[in-house]
Amino acid sequence: MFIPFDNSYALLPEGFFSKQKPTSVSDPKLLAFNNELALTLGIELDDFAEAASVFSGNSIPQNAAPIAQLYAGHQFGSFNPQLGDGRAILLGEVIGSDGIRRDIQLKGSGPTPYSRMGDGRAWLGPVLREYVISEAMQALGIPTTRALAAVATGEQIWREQGALPGAVLTRVATSHLRVGTFQVFAHRGELEHLRTLTEYTIQRHYPEAQGPMDLLRAVCAAQADLVTRWMSVGFIHGVMNTDNCSIAGETIDYGPCAFMDGFHQNRVFSSIDTQGRYAFGTQPGIAVWNMAQLATCLIQLFKDRDAALEEATEIVHAMPDLLEKAWLNRFCAKIGISTPQADDQGLIEELLALMQTDEADFTNTFQALNEGKARDQFTDLEAFDQWSEKWKNRLTTEAESQTVMQSANPVIIPRNHRIEQMIEAAVAGDMAPFERLMKALATPFVETDAALARPPSRQEIVPATFCGT
Ligand code: AMP
Ligand code: MG
Repeated sequence: MFIPFDNSYALLPEGFFSKQKPTSVSDPKLLAFNNELALTLGIELDDFAEAASVFSGNSIPQNAAPIAQLYAGHQFGSFNPQLGDGRAILLGEVIGSDGIRRDIQLKGSGPTPYSRMGDGRAWLGPVLREYVISEAMQALGIPTTRALAAVATGEQIWREQGALPGAVLTRVATSHLRVGTFQVFAHRGELEHLRTLTEYTIQRHYPEAQGPMDLLRAVCAAQADLVTRWMSVGFIHGVMNTDNCSIAGETIDYGPCAFMDGFHQNRVFSSIDTQGRYAFGTQPGIAVWNMAQLATCLIQLFKDRDAALEEATEIVHAMPDLLEKAWLNRFCAKIGISTPQADDQGLIEELLALMQTDEADFTNTFQALNEGKARDQFTDLEAFDQWSEKWKNRLTTEAESQTVMQSANPVIIPRNHRIEQMIEAAVAGDMAPFERLMKALATPFVETDAALARPPSRQEIVPATFCGT
């Protein structure tokens, strides 16, 4: 197999990472491979056995420079001064046919110096979960890391649930730089490394940025855009820790994440998020909090810290406005308004309040709006009719609003119960539900599989996703 590696991170100073080879596994089998992405990356696949060997970590392709990256991070608000890739290994980078540099990383490929108490492994469930949801995100047009391959290791690993089949995910990202990457050097007072990292990041992601404050501004904008896109499809990330907050503004680290069925601002899926820190509606506020942590790091690069603090504060304080504007744009589109006005916010909030009362299905209610069938989703018909009257008066032409709604409201999202069913089948050796989901989710704005668009029945609801990844 040929992978056209062109590595840059491995050329940074030693303190940025540890050289680390994957640990080989006994019986790798290729479960999924993303041909379209491989084509973009210029990867030529000769045979499945070779792919299983490379994407399990059993053989290291030529010119790979395997490393585990160092980072720190705030986890649920408390700072952990050293995290790092505990079960991920960056094989190297590739510049795609689209000119974009991307990381190719194995996740679940064995222990590294940053594994702490962990085994460095992943089980099949979270690997396929990330594969399906990240590719669904991509199809929805939302910035995300990608999935290139999933390989079963043929080995068992131990989690709370007992023995589970091991797997390795090959993840592709425009980079794995996180807020936590800045935090590790800022916390240690390693200002030279912090400066090198900042320059590297600007060059790689925001070449137009003139210095650290411009970088901060760009990341704030990217995060504001990302989080409002999540909200517009009912996505709850679940672990918005600073080590899971991508500098490039991609959705990264699909752990206990989920798309919600019934709408509620306080919806939480992660079984460990008992306080609801990362609930659906808190996500914009958390994004701002994460950017404040990035700002705190970048300020250290300035001689005149007071002036830097003032500028950084201004940038971070401007973020709620950015979020509000982006939110208004996205939700206006969802109800067919292409030219948002300030008082549209009230109209949208009224609808969301009605939806919340009935826990109306998020995806299907917006879908029903464009079909003129939304009334069925509500119990307080009078309230809905009143809202609908106001809404219709606000719309311009029917044709225009239809087009706007159709491109803002997906029909098919990776519903949590379908993901769980898919995992259960895969553990039993049946990949058909995985293939079915992948096919339907590739065109989420077109109904190709009506059953996948249906919300879960009461018995099918999966209220929590477990972090035992
Ligand atoms: P996450 O919650 O997946 O973002 O992971 C947080 C930190 O824990 C990261 O440093 C991971 O590399 C590490 N980690 C998670 N699972 C494992 C594991 N099974 N073995 C080693 N490290 C892990
Ligand atoms: Mg993480």
